[in-house]
Amino acid sequence: MWLVSTRDRQHRSRPGDAILHGLAPDGGLYVPESLPTLTPQAFDGAESLPDVAGRLLALFFDGDALEVDIPAICHEAFDFPAPLVTLHGLPGPASVLELFHGPTSAFKDFGARFLASSLARIRRGSSRPLTILVATSGDTGGAVAAAFHRRKAIEVVVLFPQGLVSPRQAQQLACWGANVHSFAVRGNFDDCQRLVKQAFADPDFSRSRDLSSANSINIGRLLPQMVYYARASLEVWRQSGKAPSFIVPAGNMGNVLACVWARACGLPIARIVLATNANLTITDFFQSGEWRPRPSVPTLASAMDVGNPSNMERLLALYPDPGELRQKLAAYSVSDEEIRSTIRRDDRELGQVWCPHTATAAHVYRQVVRHDPGSHWVLVATAHPAKFDEIVEPLIGRAVDIPPALTELLARPSLARELPATLDALRNVVLGGEPA
Ligand SMILES: *Cc1c(COP(=O)(O)O)cnc(C)c1O
Repeated sequence: MWLVSTRDRQHRSRPGDAILHGLAPDGGLYVPESLPTLTPQAFDGAESLPDVAGRLLALFFDGDALEVDIPAICHEAFDFPAPLVTLHGLPGPASVLELFHGPTSAFKDFGARFLASSLARIRRGSSRPLTILVATSGDTGGAVAAAFHRRKAIEVVVLFPQGLVSPRQAQQLACWGANVHSFAVRGNFDDCQRLVKQAFADPDFSRSRDLSSANSINIGRLLPQMVYYARASLEVWRQSGKAPSFIVPAGNMGNVLACVWARACGLPIARIVLATNANLTITDFFQSGEWRPRPSVPTLASAMDVGNPSNMERLLALYPDPGELRQKLAAYSVSDEEIRSTIRRDDRELGQVWCPHTATAAHVYRQVVRHDPGSHWVLVATAHPAKFDEIVEPLIGRAVDIPPALTELLARPSLARELPATLDALRNVVLGGEPA
């Protein structure tokens, strides 16, 4: 398969090269030139996540240098489950797709682990070291650090804003060591992003090493996210003959885009509904047809605080006609107060504790099920509530059980170093004693 840039389809790339380079040369985002068409029967005999992944992703890496490695990459990347758990006590059939059983308890582990397994193979045999720079406001940096920890010939530099991530997120960013270098930057998230951009443009950095960015526009994080939608939709389809509908918490829209691509490939998925927080860029677009990015506002679902979701460009490449787009998708915004009341109510009524992001989907479910009670609705749970204990615990009035992976990380020493928000300081700590 070839990928093309969203801005100019003349820019073609194989997936492996797109994973290494991130952006297309014209600044656009890579998308498949055309999506494969499949039927559910194409997955007969494939039940586990790695098996479904192998069949689906083989089509995307057809003709790529990574093609022969795809089965091994899938077994490495999909080594924890994404179970579909039945919800009881609701008007119609409903389940929750739990995407938080990975090393850092959020769905970003899937994309980060696939990216790490792929990059390790792409770089096999190259003589220059690869340094991955990540600016993070929360979940991405931890997932990337975990996925690349102890990989040979690859270093990770994580920059996060000091004091502006939750205590448990900070620990997931800071606990690694070895080839992972974590820095608490004296500044905000924008300063972290600026430092990454400056490092990419700096000749001292590029002289001694290759740089890559692992940010959420990398297609190596998106393609694997299709896999859990494929597996979950096939499970419902095989059991009931029905195509389920998904409600996906959305920020930068990478997770929901993967669901849209899975449906467009022919997987049995009925409706797709986006749940957003009080950042209104997406819902306004669905109402008015006008795309007006704006500064983000802080909410309880902080990993979705995005004012200019970059994957909209990919969605519009698939559905350029706003009318068609609105037929294919719907979007609802959820306030902080609604997040709080949903966490309280579903703990009481369903015995389910949501993280603030997942709570947006649970709130939207109550709205959409009224119009469509016959569908099998799947709520997508993007993170474990224990990651956001400082928000969730006061609402439910007790402690949230901590999953084993998180317990283990919380027990490690914190190895982050403080860093002033300047390129000189970053050069010093990363390039250190290297000859110029
Ligand atoms: C990143 C993230 C989201 C938003 O996902 P997008 O792909 O950016 O739309 C939602 N919930 C959690 C917990 C996240 O970490």
